[in-house]
Amino acid sequence: MKTTVVNIVTPDGPVYDSEVSMVSVRTTAGEMGILPGHIPTVAPLNIGVVRLKKDKTTEFVAISGGFVEIRPDKVTILCPSAELADSIDLDRAKEALQRAEQRLSGSENTDVQRAKLSLNRAMNRINVKEGNI
Ligand code: ATP
Repeated sequence: MKTTVVNIVTPDGPVYDSEVSMVSVRTTAGEMGILPGHIPTVAPLNIGVVRLKKDKTTEFVAISGGFVEIRPDKVTILCPSAELADSIDLDRAKEALQRAEQRLSGSENTDVQRAKLSLNRAMNRINVKEGNI
């Protein structure tokens, strides 16, 4: 079976480094499935889930945007933050969601764009942790 190396890197360090048979990411233009041997590309990413397909299993990583650099034998994802499902703190994400919802339903001084991004990050983490993906 053909594989490609996937690295997911954040400012805090590497989060994922493994060989997979397929990786899919959510680019700003839509979902993109990447197989080994893909032509070189760079694409911006949305907040979303990275699906990492191995022989019999699939792993899921919540990421908060960034970029993917694709080469035929390697996929590098650079993002502000990334968490494997196991390392997501569900309570923290639910609290972040509640804060964002309160901001969006509250005063007119709210930075709406910032609150929406915070809400999306929290919902994404909750979905990955709860397996709603
Ligand atoms: P919060 O308000 O809870 O900090 P946030 O969306 O503002 O949420 P980020 O700025 O995206 O948080 O992330 C800051 C750091 O905290 C990153 O290292 C990220 O991986 C980690 N992080 C954020 N939320 C969670 C969570 N629910 N579980 C595990 N790690 C988290």
